[in-house]
Amino acid sequence: MTMRRFACGGSVWAAKPSRLRRITGTGGQKVNPMLPADWDLIVVGGGPGGAAVALTQPADRRVLIVDRRRAPWRKPCDGILTPMSRRVLDGLSAGLVDRCGALPTRCLSVLDRDRNRTFDLVLHDHVMVDRQELDTRLRAGFATRPGVTFRDRAHALGWMERGDQMTVRVSHAGEVHTLTASVVVDATGAAGVARRSPRHLPPPTAVAVQFWYPSQGDPSRCDWIFDARATPFYMWAIHKPAGLLIGGVFPFAAARGGRNAIASLARSLGVTGSPWRVQGARVGMPRCRSDISVTANGALTVGEAANLVNAGTGEGISFALRSGVLCGRAIAATRRRIDAADLYSRAIAPLCAEALSKASHAQDLFTSARREAMPIDEVLVSVPWLSLELPA
Ligand SMILES: Cc1cc2nc3c(=O)[nH]c(=O)nc-3n(C[C@H](O)[C@H](O)[C@H](O)COP(=O)(O)OP(=O)(O)OC[C@H]3O[C@@H](n4cnc5c(N)ncnc54)[C@H](O)[C@@H]3O)c2cc1C
Repeated sequence: MTMRRFACGGSVWAAKPSRLRRITGTGGQKVNPMLPADWDLIVVGGGPGGAAVALTQPADRRVLIVDRRRAPWRKPCDGILTPMSRRVLDGLSAGLVDRCGALPTRCLSVLDRDRNRTFDLVLHDHVMVDRQELDTRLRAGFATRPGVTFRDRAHALGWMERGDQMTVRVSHAGEVHTLTASVVVDATGAAGVARRSPRHLPPPTAVAVQFWYPSQGDPSRCDWIFDARATPFYMWAIHKPAGLLIGGVFPFAAARGGRNAIASLARSLGVTGSPWRVQGARVGMPRCRSDISVTANGALTVGEAANLVNAGTGEGISFALRSGVLCGRAIAATRRRIDAADLYSRAIAPLCAEALSKASHAQDLFTSARREAMPIDEVLVSVPWLSLELPA
């Protein structure tokens, strides 16, 4: 079988022709498979990062946003929104969080198995949403915006700089399209284009494994479990109306054992029923400033593609949204890629510093050596962004 190849920033991306079958378009509706060739902006990835970029564009820009998945898609994510995520989402689309059916998350219960202790912490202003619902509503927001065209099941195979323009190859509706744009944004997440390019970013550092069980327990509560025998990171049990999620973050090499660790955690928590869904996802954790890259292969990167995430606490939506807004504003302010990249790099510096400080703080807290040296409740309340307080 012949493979179509396309060079992308030193690496080669390939697609098997057999997989490029004819498909229907957005949300199951028939769409014209033809795509205009020229765009002002192409955004690759329709998660929170890509959505925020598209939603901040002026109406006179021709914007294409592509996602390789079929809408509506399901992303392994617990959908806990920090106060910051809520504020940014409200700025992008007033009332969106409420329309997602957000429920308050009030209590963080800590099971510190390393020290054989349990205690509850109050969580302020956090809510949980169904992540699929959040993505669907964001998508509805950008797909109906003047100037924006959205295609699902449209896989960006790669891109390259060509003078002032960018060339992007997109596999969609059985064809490989060669498109051009003034600016390309990589919003492809932890498993996406930038994170697979050896020249730019280290690969994701850990793997999240998560099982969905039938609903049980108080849906305003989440448990964090620390058990150094299972993982140097942490595990969680989140009681959502749609089900109980039991998961954990594991080092790459221990991902296989993660499934056994989660199953055994569920048994020890007295969970009833069998898991009806098992999910796995790569996660990043920046350890130094060079682990965060806001440009790669000539594209501007946002969210997890830029490695803006905190695997220690799971916080990633707020970083994706905020970097998307900053990137979108920089692009809206100028039509020249080089100027947009410059504006974006300067605007995002404080967010990079925040992500790095949170990640290194979390790594310090959640990896076993430090955990053993300091009571976890003291450690948790010292993390200001968690908005936690110890019970009186
Ligand atoms: C188990 C788990 C639980 C989590 N829980 C939380 C939580 O409770 N709260 C929180 O704030 N964060 C949480 N996170 C982190 C959060 O999910 C991510 O940080 C966030 O989704 C990143 O957004 P993004 O837009 O950068 O990427 P994503 O949401 O990953 O979106 C990337 C999109 O790009 C598309 N794509 C990839 N490659 C291509 C390509 N070549 N062509 C076209 N499209 C492509 C993908 O299909 C995808 O839709 C969790 C993560 C995990 C793994």
